[in-house]
Amino acid sequence: MMRFDVITLFPDMFSAIKDEGVIARGVKSSLLEIHTWQLRDFSDNKYRNVDDKSYGGGAGMVMQVKPIRSCISQIKQKNPHAKVVYLSPQGQQLTHQLAHEISQLDSVILLCGRYEGVDERVIERDVDMEVSIGDYVISGGELAAMVLIDSVSRQIPGVLGNAQSLNDSFANSLLDYPHYTRPEIIDDQQVPEVLLSGHQANIDAWREDQSLKNTQKKRQDLIEK
Ligand code: SAM
Repeated sequence: MMRFDVITLFPDMFSAIKDEGVIARGVKSSLLEIHTWQLRDFSDNKYRNVDDKSYGGGAGMVMQVKPIRSCISQIKQKNPHAKVVYLSPQGQQLTHQLAHEISQLDSVILLCGRYEGVDERVIERDVDMEVSIGDYVISGGELAAMVLIDSVSRQIPGVLGNAQSLNDSFANSLLDYPHYTRPEIIDDQQVPEVLLSGHQANIDAWREDQSLKNTQKKRQDLIEK
């Protein structure tokens, strides 16, 4: 069982994965736990503020150390070995391989930034790993945390049920092969004959070949790697 503890100013956003789809089923089957923590509950002032102006000036607020540190410390009372991941555009890029490595952990704390991000001293002392979902900036770490939870959870045995992730793109360094469903013909577009043949060895060979061609066409860099 893998446990995610998410520190956020917008816990309700996580209903998107807690209540819907494959990840929600993983939670129901007790393969995953997703807990959200409202950072404002760890504020030390009556306005529940958790951010302040940036030293040195400039636009944008910065998330303060104290509430974040108190929240992490409370989570760690029960899970002292939990790894703290800060979602950040400056982090290591999330890949299939990194998602697989994270899926081997029992407990992960996901820190979602807002505004200009968190006080640097949190990164220095409290964060084990910074993870980015790509070279662009979004407004908060919540969407990035959900992408991480989804991609990691898919790699936990049992979460996908009977569906397999073995042929998914990147699982064997190549992109997936093309998929078709009924009807056999639509608007003069025909499903490839081999898929209707019932000959599994031929189907497997065709899929392998298509996977390679797909990768050569769309992501030559993966072949070169
Ligand atoms: N000033 C920061 C910078 O340029 O590095 C960006 C702050 S961003 C507006 C607010 C928060 O969104 C960040 O603290 C981070 O948690 C999240 N975020 C933004 N882009 C992200 C990305 N590509 N991957 C992961 N998290 C991201």
